[in-house]
Amino acid sequence: MKLLLTLLFSLTCWVFTYSQNIRVGLYSGTSVKEFQFTIGSGTYLLTVTLPDGRFESILLTKLSQGKFRSSGALVQFIQGGKLRFQGTQMEMLQLAQEDYCTWSIPALSTKTRDYEGNFEINVKNSSLRLVNMIPLETYLEGVVSCEGGPGHQKAYYQAQAVISRTYALNNQNRHQKDGFELCDRVHCQAYLHKRTGSAIIDTSVYQTKSVVLLTQNGNYFPTFFHANCGGQTCEPQDVWNEPIEGLTSFKDTFCIHTKQATWVKSIPLNTWTRFLSNRYGFPLHDSLSYALLQDFRQQNRSAFYLHPVYGIPMRDLREEFKLKSSYFDAVVVGDEVILYGRGFGHGVGLCQEGAMQMAKKGYSFDQILQFYYPGAVLTEHSN
Ligand SMILES: [Zn+2]
Ligand SMILES: [Zn+2]
Repeated sequence: MKLLLTLLFSLTCWVFTYSQNIRVGLYSGTSVKEFQFTIGSGTYLLTVTLPDGRFESILLTKLSQGKFRSSGALVQFIQGGKLRFQGTQMEMLQLAQEDYCTWSIPALSTKTRDYEGNFEINVKNSSLRLVNMIPLETYLEGVVSCEGGPGHQKAYYQAQAVISRTYALNNQNRHQKDGFELCDRVHCQAYLHKRTGSAIIDTSVYQTKSVVLLTQNGNYFPTFFHANCGGQTCEPQDVWNEPIEGLTSFKDTFCIHTKQATWVKSIPLNTWTRFLSNRYGFPLHDSLSYALLQDFRQQNRSAFYLHPVYGIPMRDLREEFKLKSSYFDAVVVGDEVILYGRGFGHGVGLCQEGAMQMAKKGYSFDQILQFYYPGAVLTEHSN
């Protein structure tokens, strides 16, 4: 008991040395009945809240394994095939900052995932909820490596760190009803593993510590980003039906020779025209309209296909035909429509491949951010 109290005291001390922790829902959107874990390094303290409100604690040392399973509204902790505890909630608390846990779902043969920080496990809507409680800056090191991938210049990673930090702070209420702040998917920001130990990424997060982007009014800037804009970013209202302060469409030549700058896709003509006439009442038998449909070009990004009078939003075509972007020309050839597309993603805000190219050309992270978010103010947040 004395040992446990000492450990709890030291644990509390280091938790308070951190400026800010956030709660991230892991494997969110997946209904899970059983998680399996292995302690990857260090020692974790497992605390169990028993159904009668009392607590139990045990230490889990390196390479310890176990399972959490849902049973009605309770969580079961199983080791060596034996039920050791059953409670309303369990927490796994790391004793040192770099301790981590490897997680997997036995029912799914997906890759295992390593995460640092503390964990909370309970049952919500009859499936297990796993929440990672982690210092914001450590979380960001994981996010920047997931969102940016390896092999880029520091200025790009620094820009991505500022964007991801601003996004995280601006969206802390996004999953309030789920019991955490952000999810681990691209719905919020991809966070599929702990930091990789990549010096350039960790340094980029550290060197921009606390730096965020604000609007002229002092709110967090809406730091939307996408893979490649195809040469022109998109108006937010063409994607989400409403304007967003500080974001507007502009030309970007940094990304036009990169790997996701162009794409081609062919679609059977009758599938294409059936969709247009069924969904929008497009007049296929009107010769002028049908002639227009033969050759559609977007010099600049259009909100609508062919002409606004038909009321066919480009974003609908992107969604229906699962296109990489809504920035494409469409030419009828025989019984097919050939789409010649530019870019990848919704096109709003920062273009990642453009930002990577700017970094390669020697621009600094603040120049990159000013280019893609003109009018945004770089500042340090106070937490
Ligand atoms: Zn989310
Ligand atoms: Zn671009």
